[in-house]
Amino acid sequence: MKVFDTLILGCGPCGIRAGIILKGAGLDVAVIEGSTPGGKINIAPRVDNYPGFTKIPGPDLAVEFFTWLNDAGVEMIPDMVTSLTKDEEGLFHVDCDNGSYLAKTVLVATGTKERELDLPKEKELFGHGLSYCAVCDGHFFKGQDVLIIGGGNTALKEAIYMTDLAHHVYLIHRRNEFRGNKYLVTELDNLPNATILTPYIPVAILGNDSVTGVVIENRETGEQKTLEVQGVFPLVGQIPNSQFVNIDGVKDEWGTIPVDPKTKQTKVEGLYAGGDILPRDIRQIYLSEVDGKLAAKAIIEYLKK
Ligand SMILES: Cc1cc2nc3c(=O)[nH]c(=O)nc-3n(C[C@H](O)[C@H](O)[C@H](O)COP(=O)(O)OP(=O)(O)OC[C@H]3O[C@@H](n4cnc5c(N)ncnc54)[C@H](O)[C@@H]3O)c2cc1C
Repeated sequence: MKVFDTLILGCGPCGIRAGIILKGAGLDVAVIEGSTPGGKINIAPRVDNYPGFTKIPGPDLAVEFFTWLNDAGVEMIPDMVTSLTKDEEGLFHVDCDNGSYLAKTVLVATGTKERELDLPKEKELFGHGLSYCAVCDGHFFKGQDVLIIGGGNTALKEAIYMTDLAHHVYLIHRRNEFRGNKYLVTELDNLPNATILTPYIPVAILGNDSVTGVVIENRETGEQKTLEVQGVFPLVGQIPNSQFVNIDGVKDEWGTIPVDPKTKQTKVEGLYAGGDILPRDIRQIYLSEVDGKLAAKAIIEYLKK
């Protein structure tokens, strides 16, 4: 079986930036992507802080990223990674839904996915009024009332995005202070069809075939009320996409992957990680790209040896 110099798992900003550099250095590299190339920016309604663009819709920026990768001639393998192991000879085995691959080095750049609320009916109503992505599914809720749950930038931005489509947008957050940027809170608060409610948590999702409402509870008073909404978007944090990493000592207790800050190498020789999958407080496109660049540089040095 062919042995790649490097396999990059995940085609987001981190994987793309690393792929372009490794290909430019003449390495035999491929990027494996299980969903949409471009990564999480595909579901960002608006990117406010990417150099060169004052404001750009996430999907448009994702296309730019993918174009850079294509123009560099980097091989893409559309497949979902299910297992990553290392054998006694030091080769990495990457198993996917539709094939298996071997590599001398691997960069894990698979990012994170949205955390679930763990409420009854959440799974049944997923796709029937419940979604974790307003940009992907917002158009289903034109003229309807929706609830966004969360207090970070993602929740705030998706709430602002939904005010253009929905009749009314509620946003609940469990604390009175927001983790997200103050200017986004102000922007949302000033919109005529948006209501911010704090400190509230969701306690039940209502509906049988589709969402008809959400019962929310005030964390200070215990008061409960029902918001009659047809759409609910839980945006309460992220969990790392690292379930497939089957090598001891690589992940921490949260499933994120600690690395050396300079080389992005994990505790395992030849195995690198970068982007949102790392333990970090701020997850941003430029940070992922920097990780991709540093990992690529270290991989080139490592393979020279
Ligand atoms: C709503 C929203 C708004 C945002 N706004 C901004 C902003 O304004 N500015 C900013 O800088 N950042 C913003 N971000 C954050 C930014 O999108 C991320 O920090 C960035 O995309 C992370 O890049 P990454 O390459 O680490 O991972 P990702 O972009 O998450 O890419 C990981 C890729 O790996 C793939 N993958 C996952 N598991 C597997 C598997 N098992 N097999 C194969 N492929 C897999 C995924 O499908 C994905 O394409 C926003 C995010 C969201 C959700």
